[in-house]
Amino acid sequence: MAEDVESRVAAERRRRFSDALVRTVARLPVKVRTKLLVAFVGTAMLLVAVGLLGQLVLGQSNDRVASVRPLQERAVEYSRLQAAAGHLNALLGSNRGPDLDVVWPDLAPPARRGAFSLTVDLFAIDAAEGVAALTAPDQLGFSPPPADLEVLRNIEDTARRLSTKIEEELIPLYESATVSIDDQDLIDEMLPLRRDAELLASDLHTDAARLANRTRDEIDDLIARNASSFASSRALFIGVSAGTLVLALTLGFVLSWSLIGPIQRIDDSLEAIASGDFSGRVEVENRDELGALSANVNRMNGELRRLYTELEEASQHKSDFLASMSHELRTPLNAIIGFSQVLREEMVGSVNEKQSEYLDDIISSGNHLLSLINDVLDLSKIEAGQVELQVHPFSLREALERGVVMVRERATEGGVRVAFAADPEVDVVDGDERRIKQVIFNLLSNAVKFTPTGGEVDVTATRVNGEVRVSVADTGPGIAPEDRDRIFEEFQQSDTGLEQREGTGLGLALSKRFVELHGGRIWLESEVGRGSSFTFALPARSGGS
Ligand code: ADP
Repeated sequence: MAEDVESRVAAERRRRFSDALVRTVARLPVKVRTKLLVAFVGTAMLLVAVGLLGQLVLGQSNDRVASVRPLQERAVEYSRLQAAAGHLNALLGSNRGPDLDVVWPDLAPPARRGAFSLTVDLFAIDAAEGVAALTAPDQLGFSPPPADLEVLRNIEDTARRLSTKIEEELIPLYESATVSIDDQDLIDEMLPLRRDAELLASDLHTDAARLANRTRDEIDDLIARNASSFASSRALFIGVSAGTLVLALTLGFVLSWSLIGPIQRIDDSLEAIASGDFSGRVEVENRDELGALSANVNRMNGELRRLYTELEEASQHKSDFLASMSHELRTPLNAIIGFSQVLREEMVGSVNEKQSEYLDDIISSGNHLLSLINDVLDLSKIEAGQVELQVHPFSLREALERGVVMVRERATEGGVRVAFAADPEVDVVDGDERRIKQVIFNLLSNAVKFTPTGGEVDVTATRVNGEVRVSVADTGPGIAPEDRDRIFEEFQQSDTGLEQREGTGLGLALSKRFVELHGGRIWLESEVGRGSSFTFALPARSGGS
């Protein structure tokens, strides 16, 4: 549990740290281009630095390996010197009277020991000279270090002294021997000289061994130092490479988040603006192009908010004006129509034919004006969101039959045949009966109005995929493709509609709004010169229509 809390605290601390880094980079007052350039160049330079370091480490390792070679050569030479000194030492050591007895008890009977001993001593002279020669620099093949030089000079000097001692002091004693080498006096005389020579040979051997051992130690030491230098170089290289990698990744992370974060916030803000929400503000700390972009987005948002508010106010004023004007107009208009009908019905006295004709005109124009005012009032109410549908079940079939009856007189006058056919399952629907009747009447009266004499209007009602569809098809002039969307908007009429000089271009706009308020849709299929078919669909009642 405690570990959990600790790891969360650590994660929070890391997040805050990286946020602070991202913010710092975002606030740098340089262009995005420059930031990217710096990041790329920085990363490239880090890579170059790692490469150079690698080369340096490899070079040093190579140098160390090369530095072992001369030491090895020196060690070989000193080993030879040691071997030669050892040989000399062994020769002298083996040339004492009693030793000869041990080595050659049978081979060297007393009478011949002298000859053997002399031969060994002569070999010893050569060996000593050989040792002295081995110390010469041209024999060694390298120039020894100063500390070795002193020892080498010592060895040479001792070797020469030894050879001189044997040659000048020991050898003459053999020549002076008259009777036998076993002569006790002679042996007594030779013994101290031989001991001296042995001591010199032993010194020689010790010095040579010291040189060889010291060089071997140096090699061991160098190899150990090389191994430790290699390990530390490798650790340094791995450390620097890992550091470079972390630095490059951090650089990439910080830079990309200093760009992606603001872009996401600007995108969110634009999405909100596109969906009509102007309340937000995009907060971006960048002092680069993204900062400028977000400032522009905020400015645009503010301007759109201002325009939208103005537009809303204007639209509200327009709706208020239309509503109050329509209301004010309807009252006197109703009086005009009502009193004209009273006069026309001759309820207050007789009217002549001409007066009757004028009264009919007044009534018809009055009714037309009234329906126009009603339409405008309906539209303004819909726009202001004030229309509340009076939804209840009603018979769609009956509404359609009534609609057909209402237009039949005009159709007969115009020589247009109207037919109605409905599926048996189409009957009751849920909706605002008055509004749906308005839609039906509008479609039917348009069809009759635009269909020439001899034409036909077919009204059908079907139930398809959970909706009830009503189609009003005519054999009129049809509607051009470019007008098909437009005529569903307010005050839009096609050329045919304008020629009719009847109507205002509000009927379809209202029909569309009413159908959509019911959760339905309305559409049009048409072929110019052959006719049009307007269809609206309403959600059917579940279980029946
Ligand atoms: P109005 O009929 O009052 O002009 P509508 O909104 O009902 O207004 O119709 C808009 C326009 O659509 C009409 O002016 C006419 O140009 C066209 N229109 C509508 N119904 C038909 C139709 N059945 N045949 C041809 N054009 C039509």
